[in-house]
Amino acid sequence: MSESHNVLLIEDNPGDARLIREMLAEDPGAPFALHFADRLARGLEHLASNQTGLVLLDLSLPDSFGLDTFAKVFAHSPDVPIIVLTGNDDQRVALSAVKGGAQDYLVKGKLDRELLLRSMQYSIERKRYQVELERQANYDALTGLPNRSLLHDRLKQAVFAQRTLRAIAVVFMDLDHFKFVNDSLGHSTGDELLKAMAERLRSVLREGDTVARLGGDEFVLILNDQTNEEVIFRAMQRITAKLSEPIQIGGKELYVTASAGISLYPQDGPDVDTLLKNADAAMYRAKEHGRNNFQFYTAEMNQLVNERLQLEHSLRRALEKHEFLLHYQQRVDMRSGAVVGAEALVRWSHPEWGLVHPARFIPLTEETGLIVQLGEWVLHEACRQTRIWQDKGLEPGVVSVNLSALQFRREGLVRTLSRILADTGLEPSQLEMEITESMVMHNAEAAVATLQGLKSLGVALSVDDFGTGYSSLSYLKNLPLDALKIDRSFVRDIGTGAEADEGVIAQAVISLGHALHLKVIAEGVETDAQLRFLRRHKCDELQGFYFGEPLAPEAHARLLANAKRRARRG
Ligand code: C2E
Ligand code: MG
Ligand code: MG
Repeated sequence: MSESHNVLLIEDNPGDARLIREMLAEDPGAPFALHFADRLARGLEHLASNQTGLVLLDLSLPDSFGLDTFAKVFAHSPDVPIIVLTGNDDQRVALSAVKGGAQDYLVKGKLDRELLLRSMQYSIERKRYQVELERQANYDALTGLPNRSLLHDRLKQAVFAQRTLRAIAVVFMDLDHFKFVNDSLGHSTGDELLKAMAERLRSVLREGDTVARLGGDEFVLILNDQTNEEVIFRAMQRITAKLSEPIQIGGKELYVTASAGISLYPQDGPDVDTLLKNADAAMYRAKEHGRNNFQFYTAEMNQLVNERLQLEHSLRRALEKHEFLLHYQQRVDMRSGAVVGAEALVRWSHPEWGLVHPARFIPLTEETGLIVQLGEWVLHEACRQTRIWQDKGLEPGVVSVNLSALQFRREGLVRTLSRILADTGLEPSQLEMEITESMVMHNAEAAVATLQGLKSLGVALSVDDFGTGYSSLSYLKNLPLDALKIDRSFVRDIGTGAEADEGVIAQAVISLGHALHLKVIAEGVETDAQLRFLRRHKCDELQGFYFGEPLAPEAHARLLANAKRRARRG
């Protein structure tokens, strides 16, 4: 044996320790390097930070006694062989340790070099064999994935070890037409394909999730800690998309798809067997649906998913069919009362549902990434329209456009905007971008770079819905901003008359904004009382139903024309 093993001796009796050291030192060729710990705590520390091949363990230590000592070491390092050292009088305890997983025990008084070395070699080999057996019992030989038995353990753990109840998704997955591949291209191609699919599945899962192979072309995934069905739906889209990418095997390009069924814990079953059974049943429905799709176990979930798919589909189509339009809501200067600009707000004019408000579709466009395309259209349209109004002499003022987080994070935003400004001929000073607190606080450095890039084009930047997110105030000071928009909810608090502290947040935002030399805009102004309050506290600009709702372009153009006429007269 040429391999050298680190041996840890946990022993508090210096005499016993010296004896063992001398036995091992007699032969410098012996493949063991000895380390000491004189109490359990130090031994565990050593195990935690050192690769250890074997533990020699005295059960009676200053900080631990008897079988308990063994149990603690074994629990800490289940894959390291342990030999228990015992006195003549407690061999019964030592035997219990062997039953509990120790490889061997040695009686201290009756120890000689030969015996010690033999026991150590034997223990190491025996443990190696045990670990290998365990691996074979728990892992699939072809793919190296957990097998059915380990899957059961993991799933049981996932279900029962939960501290807070969060959804777990059990996904039963079966490759489509695998038998055909196997029969026509041969078993070795089939095996390669299974290995490649296993690798793909492993690569798309998050840490803490499990993928297991049940045999044949059946895989089971456990997606842990899912906050809601939507997240699971997205994960499934990602997983099935990954699987269906073309794949090269044996010089051939194959296209493989999979059908999957999903059951959810807790609603689809209280235990492992029921969850697996129901996921399997759902998988069969996916096969019946023409394969290459996934089905949830319950009808309600499928209904939900179908509606989302439909909405997603019509949103994509809406972009192509130009079903989106912008409405404009005027912004009014507090002191002069003049219209100084407008916020552009997107609307979806659906052929059947009529005018759809952004709350109903913006979240989905963000999830699917469609917002990037939609957002670019909004920017272009707002700039184009404003420039046209200017050319007609309507004095539209500054147009403000909402940016979504995804748009903001994507590379190339500054370039895109610069192109749009050039295309439409709008002066950059006539455009304002509305961002939100979370966008800038999230990935601060990248955010600052983007903000500076936007700023360098000459557009204004404002923080929308201010006060609802988490801003680091010291940080805010260093951003190249122009304005804060007080969130509607804080304006609503003004003039309710209910509480003594009504309006304090709005007031605080105004003070903060002014201290940072920023303009402050109030959104959602609906009442006279709110207006008076905001005037008293010197808010700079106002926006809300009190002055007018968002209007279609033609209506907003009329509003601008009226305002101009009034201004000329007065
Ligand atoms: P937001 O940017 O805070 O827009 C203001 C919202 O408040 C608008 O709702 C507006 O109609 C509404 N509002 C204005 N005055 C009042 C009022 O006095 N009382 C009340 N109760 N509401 C008022 P809308 O148009 O439904 O937009 C909702 C949100 O959708 C926007 O909130 C914005 O976050 C998002 N959004 C709208 N258009 C776009 C867009 O083009 N791109 C992106 N990324 N998001 C957009
Ligand atoms: Mg806004
Ligand atoms: Mg807002």
